[in-house]
Amino acid sequence: MPAEAYFRLDVDAVGFQHSFPAYLQMDNDDLLRQKVFQFLESGVPTEVEPRAYSSEDVQVIIARLQSLMDNQLDEKIKIAGFTLQPYHPFDDEDDLVQSCETCMYYLLHRRFCELPELSIPVEKDWSCRLWRI
Ligand code: SF4
Repeated sequence: MPAEAYFRLDVDAVGFQHSFPAYLQMDNDDLLRQKVFQFLESGVPTEVEPRAYSSEDVQVIIARLQSLMDNQLDEKIKIAGFTLQPYHPFDDEDDLVQSCETCMYYLLHRRFCELPELSIPVEKDWSCRLWRI
């Protein structure tokens, strides 16, 4: 079975995370974070570039994310351009390295991206092209 199909099936199994009671939420976050990791580690390409630096670029990506069904987490990850490593802008050495840890949408204690169109557990060293400071 292709990795993407496997991932979608598994995400369906845990895709109802918001219906979990609070005391189970962290376990569910860990499970989903692990599935995202496995999906990215399988080598599925994501849209890492072009980065979304203008508000117009951001709105185009956000509109694409909003068009997805709730169980299309694999597409969400591809469109947002997720990576398992921080992104290093190469056109300006003074630019800040882009990682979830330095992003305004990162919830430190939950290790979670609170951008509404993503809203998934992440790791501090991951990144996506919707990164904002
Ligand atoms: S928006 Fe920020 S916190 Fe969310 S996945 Fe992208 S870089 Fe990480």
